[in-house]
Amino acid sequence: PALDFRRAGKELARVVVRIRPPCRVEEEEAGEDVRASEVCVRTTATNSVAIQGQDFTFDAVAEAASTQEHIFKLVGLPLVENCLSGFNSSIFAYGQTGSGKTYTMWGPLSALLEDSTGSERGLTPRVFEQLFSRIKEEQGKHADKELTYHCICSFLEIYNEQITDLLDPSLKNLQIREDVRTACVYVESLTKELVFTTKDVTQLLVKGLSNRRTGATSVNADSSRSHCVFTCVIKSESKNLEDGSSSTRTSRINLVDLAGSERQKITHAFGDRLKEAGNINRSLSQLGNLINILAEISQSGKQRHVPYRDSKLTFLLQESLGGNAKLAMICAVSPSQSCKSETLSTLRFAQRAK
Ligand code: ADP
Ligand code: MG
Repeated sequence: PALDFRRAGKELARVVVRIRPPCRVEEEEAGEDVRASEVCVRTTATNSVAIQGQDFTFDAVAEAASTQEHIFKLVGLPLVENCLSGFNSSIFAYGQTGSGKTYTMWGPLSALLEDSTGSERGLTPRVFEQLFSRIKEEQGKHADKELTYHCICSFLEIYNEQITDLLDPSLKNLQIREDVRTACVYVESLTKELVFTTKDVTQLLVKGLSNRRTGATSVNADSSRSHCVFTCVIKSESKNLEDGSSSTRTSRINLVDLAGSERQKITHAFGDRLKEAGNINRSLSQLGNLINILAEISQSGKQRHVPYRDSKLTFLLQESLGGNAKLAMICAVSPSQSCKSETLSTLRFAQRAK
């Protein structure tokens, strides 16, 4: 069952909630305590969940047993088709630290290294397998046209409102620029890699992910406080072999692993950490804000000012958020009782994105 973006007329984004399975630590912590081992969120239909007696409905809910392949079929397949039809297409993973965002977007490192055999490989490698296979298919379809595709990837991290190139971490504090001629937004000096195969992509992922920042605070030893954005610009040229005329088209795919949505705890943080906590909260709440405004515009049809420039993330992605862009939001939640209030807040965010 793939998400249907065609009926996205009035809605801004397709929203999927993914509940991760309980992990061993949670099971051990709960021990014999029946109440603690109960999950806090349950699926009530293929597209709804219940938590604390409240029901939430989305485009789809992926329960704990659902596989990486299932998520790909649901979200990845339609993304590739949207992109080949010329739409800028993005998938965001939103949720508290430990809810499964990274697992969903890229998959464990071990599965990425196994190439196309690891069943745990995440959305991104699967999206590119599909993209390359669909490109081949398109190229074989037309005898009278020559289709060429260029896929150019970049991978960056936004941490504390500063952009670092994950493919070359010596490039820090990169600036977002706007091309006055085309009105396109780009990151100055960012590394761009031409890719031809899924292996090219997984190599970039492995390299970039190993450069990701992890920070230690007294509250959370290894939490993800940065947004991680993998972008592929797909330029296609169609040349008519009879009259020699040609046309070009550009679309982009953004795969975004957002910073943990939990309220950054300010306790025991000072100096840089305190400033950092503030910036991360702000950039996520600005994404939420923007999504609210865009959702309102697409529902009412009325124009209003969209504050893309309020954060690096929304400025960078502005061409992929409004207008004709296709958005999918995967909201990852933990089933654990101890995460109940964060899970509730993620579901509320997810609801607002509709
Ligand atoms: P986040 O990026 O949101 O902080 P992770 O993706 O790192 O969370 O997931 C936290 C832990 O749970 C990791 O060890 C990950 O492998 C595991 N995990 C997350 N989702 C699943 C899933 N659907 N199936 C199995 N393990 C999962
Ligand atoms: Mg993560």
